[in-house]
Amino acid sequence: MKRERTQQEHRPPTVGGVGRPATCPGLAKPVDGRPDLLDRALLRRQEYLVVADPWLRRSRASAEKGRHFESLIYLWVTFNAWLGEVVANRDLTERDSYLVAAAGRDPLLNRAFKQRLADEVDFADSCEQFRGLWPVLKTRALTDLGIPPWSGEEQRRPYVRRAIRAGLRSSDYRPSCATDHSPTESFDPSAIPLDWPHLLDAIYGVRCNLFHGGKSFLNPEDTRFVQLSHQILRAVWCDGDIGQEWHER
Ligand SMILES: [Zn+2]
Repeated sequence: MKRERTQQEHRPPTVGGVGRPATCPGLAKPVDGRPDLLDRALLRRQEYLVVADPWLRRSRASAEKGRHFESLIYLWVTFNAWLGEVVANRDLTERDSYLVAAAGRDPLLNRAFKQRLADEVDFADSCEQFRGLWPVLKTRALTDLGIPPWSGEEQRRPYVRRAIRAGLRSSDYRPSCATDHSPTESFDPSAIPLDWPHLLDAIYGVRCNLFHGGKSFLNPEDTRFVQLSHQILRAVWCDGDIGQEWHER
């Protein structure tokens, strides 16, 4: 039956949230039979750019002025709006976690990421730096558990181990499969695959902290997360899907 097939195809992938998979096959195999989650033919490009253009300009201007929090907010708003336009299942246009999972599995974004990673040393270095900070811990969870924010005085890995041991659940960090790749007691983020689905999941974690973390996500160390997230998302999505015509304006 067509209805059953559609429902099955568009069942939200398990990415983060409450249901952590034992491993992360959904993240690790982003295009495995699910290339249909985003459909760029749905984009009303000119109408979209009328709205997106000022936000993208602000994002770029903010980045140039070192206002990294603003630059990521502006960029994410346009990315999220784009996802809402191109997601194949319109019933899920406002479900952010689904949109992020769909973008993580999108073949074109995966290809754009791999190309950058292979061709650009600076981009690859940024991705490595970002992974070295993983997982992105949910600010709200740290506050609830009475865990002070990471100050940077302590190395990141022991801080992460300590935070997870203090009671963080997998839904409290991204990638949510982080400890599936490396056990808490000897946690090493380099064991997490450096691919687009894991990166985007981590960027989404930064976005959530930015939108929901409030004052507690305004520490100097948080700037690194935000700056790297902006740089990577912009390179993979904006430069690829928005394209040269926008950059040449
Ligand atoms: Zn994983």
